[in-house]
Amino acid sequence: ATAPGPEVAFVTGAASGIGLATATRLARAGYRVALVDLDAGKTAAAEADLKALGLNVKGYALNVCDRAAVSRMMDDEGRVDVVVCAAGVYTPRLVDEITEDDFRRTLDVNVIGVFIPAQEGARRMKAGGRIVTVSSRGALGGFGFADYVASKAGVIGLTRAMALELRTRKIAVNSIAPGFTDTPMTRTMPPDQYAKAVSLEPSGGAAQPDDIAVAIEFFASPATRFITGQTLFVDGGKSLG
Ligand code: NAD
Repeated sequence: ATAPGPEVAFVTGAASGIGLATATRLARAGYRVALVDLDAGKTAAAEADLKALGLNVKGYALNVCDRAAVSRMMDDEGRVDVVVCAAGVYTPRLVDEITEDDFRRTLDVNVIGVFIPAQEGARRMKAGGRIVTVSSRGALGGFGFADYVASKAGVIGLTRAMALELRTRKIAVNSIAPGFTDTPMTRTMPPDQYAKAVSLEPSGGAAQPDDIAVAIEFFASPATRFITGQTLFVDGGKSLG
């Protein structure tokens, strides 16, 4: 039996970019949304902005790699229907320059920081649920960010492996692989590099965060519960060639 009240969705990386667009979409669709982000100031601002729109949200400033904090938050909310793992880090560096510490930090946030909320969420999905991970078109490869490429390929593998083990519990696990998207993450690039990246996109520039959020909302919906283990590239066709 499903518990009364709105379904609860946890969105990591919710204070910025794709996570914020997703949280906004899910809250507008009627979910109660837990806004999870490392940055306390940005989390409070996102919470205030969405509450001002009359949406049912609560901010949680925490690190997705901090299992105790993630667990406490989910216990506080009392139910978990959807977990969207959008928190991630990206630091461009050539292979020659990446240190082991750099590499471990990227894997820590981008892979283990997906695993912890997904695992803690799945443990609480008594009547089934949906987990949506955020990979990247970069999972297929890319110049100047090998640690990120490895981490995002890891997210696709993790998504498939979790989907297989959780399918008998009616928990769907799917991934979205965004292409180049206009968010604070890509806006940290020097303007000339940003403009060059945009010019290489085949579909008229960068995706907007909501172009990605619409696909995340699809996988978060109970209507798509029979789709699992899939990765959907949302990249304007760039990965096609
Ligand atoms: P963003 O930097 O705008 O937002 C990411 C958010 O994650 C930030 O608010 C940050 O504070 C938060 N975060 C980082 N580490 C965290 C941690 N340890 N715990 C909790 N929160 C943490 O980035 P974005 O572009 O919106 O990216 C969202 C996701 O989409 C990321 O996983 C990213 O790798 C992926 N992605 C982005 C693009 C792009 O072009 N922007 C393309 C493909 C994939």
